Amino acid sequence: EPALSIRGLTKVYGNGFHALKGIDLDVPEGDFFALLGPNGAGKSTTLGIVCSLVQKTAGQVKIYGIDIDRDFAKAKYHLGVVPQEFNFSQFEKVEDIILAQAGYYGLSLRQAKPRCDQLLKDLGLWDKRHGPARMLSGGMKRRLMIARALIHRPRLLILDEPTAGVDIELRRSMWDYMRRINREEGTTIILTTHYLEEAESLCRNIAIINHGEIVRNTSVRDLLTEL
Ligand code: ADP
Ligand code: ADP
Repeated sequence: EPALSIRGLTKVYGNGFHALKGIDLDVPEGDFFALLGPNGAGKSTTLGIVCSLVQKTAGQVKIYGIDIDRDFAKAKYHLGVVPQEFNFSQFEKVEDIILAQAGYYGLSLRQAKPRCDQLLKDLGLWDKRHGPARMLSGGMKRRLMIARALIHRPRLLILDEPTAGVDIELRRSMWDYMRRINREEGTTIILTTHYLEEAESLCRNIAIINHGEIVRNTSVRDLLTEL
């Protein structure tokens, strides 16, 4: 059963703009998958629909076989999401932001605390845990979003342009971290990017999207032998 399966996904925005023109996509369990395309191609719209933040016009989305129209409440437990924009309170404490998310997934504090501590350490946020989020650098805020997305041990982690505006050193360490959770925890990872270099260096499979259509869907290895 694929981690994510998309059929005929279509999005027409309120202003009549056709952002997705019936796309199909399958992401197998354990994959490291890139949705690559230029700005405006439809990447965020696709992820927004998968996360149930954007309403689709037509088509079907299944997360581990669960149709999100039928039971998103169940599907969401499999899903960790790192959106592009920071969407936590700047005044809340770093640790509390992660633990609040655990509550949303029905974890008790006793279950969540050790996991939270581990994530804070792994992502270099330990020393900042008692301070408000506004004290964090941009790169740290991005890592906070990753920690928050992983608190409930999702099988599928989705990241929208995770390294946009991130300096090269931090980008490398984020890549290493993502590789590690993919390899060691078996987490399926889907990211969007407009850097071929990022997709190439990280991912096993890649779909190229342009003007709301999938124009290629292949392994990174095959793509590279063609170039
Ligand atoms: P939906 O059809 O999903 O309800 P809407 O058409 O209502 O989406 O759009 C939501 C808001 O985003 C509206 O205020 C819309 O004007 C605005 N919007 C319009 N064009 C764009 C755009 N290109 N990018 C982002 N937001 C846009
Ligand atoms: P990407 O993530 O690949 O940059 P998006 O999915 O954000 O692309 O946007 C795809 C297209 O849909 C763009 O042309 C964008 O302007 C348009 N769009 C996004 N949101 C809205 C909206 N709310 N209303 C109208 N058009 C939108």
